[in-house]
Amino acid sequence: MSVLPIVTVGDPVLRERARDVTPDELASPEVQRFIDDLIETKRAANGAGIAANQVADLRRIAIVEVTPDNPRYPYKPPVPLTVMVNAVLEPMGDETVEINEGCLSVPDLRGEVDRHVTVRVRYLDRDGAEHVEERRGLTAGTFQHEVDHLDGVLFLDRVRDPTTFSTWEQFDRHRREEFVARAKALVERVGS
Ligand code: ZN
Repeated sequence: MSVLPIVTVGDPVLRERARDVTPDELASPEVQRFIDDLIETKRAANGAGIAANQVADLRRIAIVEVTPDNPRYPYKPPVPLTVMVNAVLEPMGDETVEINEGCLSVPDLRGEVDRHVTVRVRYLDRDGAEHVEERRGLTAGTFQHEVDHLDGVLFLDRVRDPTTFSTWEQFDRHRREEFVARAKALVERVGS
């Protein structure tokens, strides 16, 4: 396994739509190795997730995994390792919530993003088995962030109020306390 270089905002590959992976491709040792590398890269960067576009690859593959000790997002509920191939996401209901997000491809910037509170996500796992799952709250936000990447969308595009942008240092200083309280209330209200 190897850690791949992560591309940053401005690289056109982050603005392209990733293409579906065929069953034959998915079963190939090359794609299976790529999935292992993507997991390794996400873990090395302490991300909550990563999408193929972020390592300059346009196969429709994304990972979500939140461990309880994640230093970037200690307030996020844990999510077991989820490998999504050909992921498609649909909102359930109209309710949205503002979540303060960051991104491995947008170094040292965070902002408040509108996310659907509940989504249904369909994907194939790395063995080709189909999954349909409902995700809620902060976890739904993480899934929306990753599937957005596969569609060429960055969290920056969804920030409605540009005055909410902050560096990570300024987030810690001025926004963390208020946001973590909001995040906890959301998790208590809707689960994850
Ligand atoms: Zn991201």
